[in-house]
Amino acid sequence: CGIVGYVGGQPALDVVIAGLKRLEYRGYDSAGVAVQTGTDGLLAVDKRAGKLANLEKSLADAPLPGGTTGIGHTRWATHGGPTDANAHPHLDGANRVAVVHNGIIENFAALRAELAERGHELRSETDTEVVAHLLGEEYAPAGGDLAEAMRRVCRRLDGAFTLVAVHADAPGVVVGARRNSPLVVGRGEGENFLASDVAAFIAHTREAIELGQDQVVELRADAVTVTDFDGAPADVREYHVDWDA
Ligand code: GLU
Repeated sequence: CGIVGYVGGQPALDVVIAGLKRLEYRGYDSAGVAVQTGTDGLLAVDKRAGKLANLEKSLADAPLPGGTTGIGHTRWATHGGPTDANAHPHLDGANRVAVVHNGIIENFAALRAELAERGHELRSETDTEVVAHLLGEEYAPAGGDLAEAMRRVCRRLDGAFTLVAVHADAPGVVVGARRNSPLVVGRGEGENFLASDVAAFIAHTREAIELGQDQVVELRADAVTVTDFDGAPADVREYHVDWDA
């Protein structure tokens, strides 16, 4: 339902939670975050069914290690009930990649069956979790390039999706993709944002890039790179958000 990604110099968790709050008006049944921590980018994840306040209480009771790269999600369940396990982010089997998703992966059942055959054990009932496992599989063949791994996975997906992912082995990198579902980049000074709606980052920047259909974006603190699903450089629409959020 709502998606926020951040990479820069601020504590990512604060930026992501504040962004998710700006998206609360859309309605949701669960919320979660993933932050890259330490020099090895290890992923710290917390996700809870219910209101953002539940997640915040959990984070207050058991604080996550700090980090300046992170993603967050508010979920409106379509596949699998509103439980902690079905809340996003979803991880691959090795807990190296975390992904959040808006929309529906129409061919998830076939992908799930295929992953099961290769020995993957899935931990949720969502359509989303297959993407985490596929990204985990593609990361090494893609030469450790998370954007390339995302492009390879997106070419195999049917349906509507905004996807945002981080990988433990790619510190300071957030990757996003979209088809039939919105994704916007917010450009800051030494920091960049990704969100399903500009409202999530308007407190930080009003310089935005609207991603087009079937595009993948790689976000770093000082760089934004957009391609199509085949890796060709893509035309993007840059604009200034001049309304008051
Ligand atoms: N289909 C996904 C799920 O049920 C994403 C739902 C959403 O857009 O929040 O988990």
